[in-house]
Amino acid sequence: MSVRVRFAPSPTGFLHVGGARTALFNWLYARHTGGKFILRVEDTDAARNTQEAVDVILNGLRWLGLNWDEGPLTSDATGPAKGDRGPYFQSQRRANYQRRVEALLSRGLAYEREGAIKFKMSREPVVIDDLIVGQVRRELTDREAEDPDFVIVRSDGQPVFHLVNVVDDLEMGITHVIRGEDHLSNTAKHVALFQAFGVHPPHYAHIPLILNPDGTKMSKRDQGASLSTYVEEGYVAEAVVNYLVLLGWSPKENREVLSVPELVERFDLPQVLRHNARFDMAKLQWMNGEYMRTLPADRFYELCVHALAKAGLQTNAFPLAYVKAALDTCKGKLKTFAELPGYAGFYFADALDFDPAAVVQSFTAENRPRLQRLRDAFAKVEPFNYAFLEAGLKNTAGELGVKPGVLVHPTRLACTGKTAGPSLYHLLEVLGREKVLARLDAALK
Ligand code: GLU
Repeated sequence: MSVRVRFAPSPTGFLHVGGARTALFNWLYARHTGGKFILRVEDTDAARNTQEAVDVILNGLRWLGLNWDEGPLTSDATGPAKGDRGPYFQSQRRANYQRRVEALLSRGLAYEREGAIKFKMSREPVVIDDLIVGQVRRELTDREAEDPDFVIVRSDGQPVFHLVNVVDDLEMGITHVIRGEDHLSNTAKHVALFQAFGVHPPHYAHIPLILNPDGTKMSKRDQGASLSTYVEEGYVAEAVVNYLVLLGWSPKENREVLSVPELVERFDLPQVLRHNARFDMAKLQWMNGEYMRTLPADRFYELCVHALAKAGLQTNAFPLAYVKAALDTCKGKLKTFAELPGYAGFYFADALDFDPAAVVQSFTAENRPRLQRLRDAFAKVEPFNYAFLEAGLKNTAGELGVKPGVLVHPTRLACTGKTAGPSLYHLLEVLGREKVLARLDAALK
């Protein structure tokens, strides 16, 4: 049996990390088994559908690298790139639903009630052999026992989620439905519909929910809930993928940092965990830091330049060698690219943003003449590189009878506006003699 899975988001204007993880599990399962990954936009609720809401999902999946395999050819300028396949849109599949409803009506498995169409739900308990949750036996609740039937087409003609979801899974030949555990409660209805259509339901695999660190259910407004946050804050997509896969799946080995090809090789449903996962921002940031450290140089520069530009810092006015040397002093020092403008903006800004408390502490009457001596020493350092700058600073401190730290802090503050940042001697070398002297002079004024 060739595996066919799908991600079936409703366009809400938002891609939740839970949704992104569901998409990822489906994609990995398809890639692991050599099957197909289908993207189906569940957009039958016309009131909520906008192109922007769809784009949020498509862009999120593209950013994560989760490419889908089939769908109608599109050439729509606002849609996916020309020549791309898919996704499928339920709003374009109305005729299928209608045909299926007519089949149920003609076989007495559905009936009209007050303008709506209701499905005759099975009165027998429904058994679901879930690949993750195990066997679930759904008996009718007392309330359902009175009237277990449910609406499949509303009186305004709108087909309902349960119907369209099942008809599409059936017609698209979906073999495995991998989705959030919040849908387990719908599954008896779905199984009964499949049976009414005379086919076996697909395999179900309901994946545990993602909770907040405090154990509450993660909602739209919670920190880190929206995938777009990671795009905007300059996370590395591979790091987010790696973090998401660990929310509810474990490779059963003592490693957590795994590349996408390694994940494709290892991912399988039996290792999906049964218990709910907790979202841990600190761990995601750690993971991102790990990826930033090992990123190929060109990709690192590219993401840095992008983050700086977003903060209004243009790098293209500077020589390329200067930009690269500046960014090299930041490598391994950041958890996200969003930290970069604060960390290294001084390389690319004319006016520095001084920390006022640090100014009071560092530029004291006692320190001014010391800084002046250092300035004069730096004017003569030859070559102007980190090793000679370090020796120059230590020499000057020795002459003044103070510890190097006494000079280090005011120098850093004068040249960067900050109390922390890249290695001092390296950043001075990158800035170059002219800028360093000018900044020291400005601080001395
Ligand atoms: N549109 C549903 C959702 O976004 C899909 C559920 C499913 O995967 O079957 O929750």
